[in-house]
Amino acid sequence: MSESMLDTVLAQFHRAADQIGLKEDHRETMTAFKRILQTQFPVERDDGSFDIYEGYRVHHNVARGPAKGGIRYAPMVSLDEVKALAMLMTWKCAVVNVPFGGAKGGVIVDPAAMSRGELENLTRRFTTELEPIIGPDSDIPAPDMGTNAQVMAWVMDTYSMSRGYTVPGVVTGKPVALGGSAGRQEATGRGLMYVLQDHLRDAGGIQGRKVAVQGFGNVGSVVAKLLQMEGAVVTHISDKDIALHYPTGVDAAAAANYVAQGGTLTEWNEEHGRCEVVDAGDVLTADVDVIVPAAVEHVLTEENAPHVKASIVLEAANGPTTNAADAIFKERDITVIPDIVANAGGVTVSYFEWVQARQYVRWSEERVNEELRRLITAGYQTIAARQMSAKDGATLRDAANWIGIERVVEATELRGIYP
Ligand code: NAD
Repeated sequence: MSESMLDTVLAQFHRAADQIGLKEDHRETMTAFKRILQTQFPVERDDGSFDIYEGYRVHHNVARGPAKGGIRYAPMVSLDEVKALAMLMTWKCAVVNVPFGGAKGGVIVDPAAMSRGELENLTRRFTTELEPIIGPDSDIPAPDMGTNAQVMAWVMDTYSMSRGYTVPGVVTGKPVALGGSAGRQEATGRGLMYVLQDHLRDAGGIQGRKVAVQGFGNVGSVVAKLLQMEGAVVTHISDKDIALHYPTGVDAAAAANYVAQGGTLTEWNEEHGRCEVVDAGDVLTADVDVIVPAAVEHVLTEENAPHVKASIVLEAANGPTTNAADAIFKERDITVIPDIVANAGGVTVSYFEWVQARQYVRWSEERVNEELRRLITAGYQTIAARQMSAKDGATLRDAANWIGIERVVEATELRGIYP
């Protein structure tokens, strides 16, 4: 059977646990899931019929604070995938040292096949199903694949209606007009750019590096745009329908702005881009310095990892690299900057949004970006230093997992076991 996302995340955990000699009881605590909600619920379609949907919300570990993690709407969602993503969130929050535990949610649905009204119905009903476990002190959802600021607005409104007053702290990634944070929409992409800057600081920086980006949604479009603005040459971009190549650099900023207005990459290329259309598989094996998988998990496998030409993999998506591919990259001396630090900009600014919501204050975008840089740079430098000080050829992913696990173990020990 092929490796599942949960297999990948658990194997990474056990490898890190072996390396740091984690005690057996902590190993059990760290791989236990605090709470799992699974629900099947009806949603009314525009023609008056009903369909039943299945959704999940998983809290992995909440030793360090309220559960935090996105909600994904996608046809391939499964309970195992949501558990894996919740566990990654636990380590990610610990690596950037924000006071949250790890959670994730998902609904098995193709949001592109629903009208706006149907999506609103689905979101409001799913929120109602989640009500017993979400809240500003307990579990704070955010956007992920297939969800966006509008979906978060519906989550907040539904939760607030049942309370009788507005509760802005129950979700992050809301529209700015509803208490969303300046800078949140771009935060994951911006964090990725900061981490790459840190990584290349003593190696000539981002200027002139050739980059290929897979996925052109919330994360991929922003990171492509920001890397281009920093002087990178973005030769390849792609989404689920098309892959584009322009040897001297696609105008990623123009494409990102076009897509942000609701257009597709295909339309942008027809109207403005004039890029060569290439095979989807060419993006990750392109002759570039950095590849940025920013779409779905497990796109880097033992089949394509031997053909990757880049020297750096910047993991924008969660879990884009299988364990087999990870081993090949290590063998080939290709550096993987792991998801739990690389894409932590989103949860970091979500934390700032939650703080602002709870204090009823607004930070400027400059302040948000400065604080983001401070926390994500500290996270990256801590793992880079830890990797350097390890003797046995540890990867950045190993070091990131050590830091994440150790911080959660420390919180668990300080709290003790109740009763
Ligand atoms: P999104 O739904 O906004 O965009 C996903 C993009 O990937 C779309 O352009 C889609 O067409 C493309 N895509 C889907 N399947 C593809 C395929 N097989 N090949 C190429 N492109 C494909 O999602 P997003 O919010 O940008 O999330 C992307 C990844 O980043 C996910 O793994 C998500 O968990 C992770 N992530 C997101 C955030 C966030 O703040 N949104 C934060 C951290 C991590």
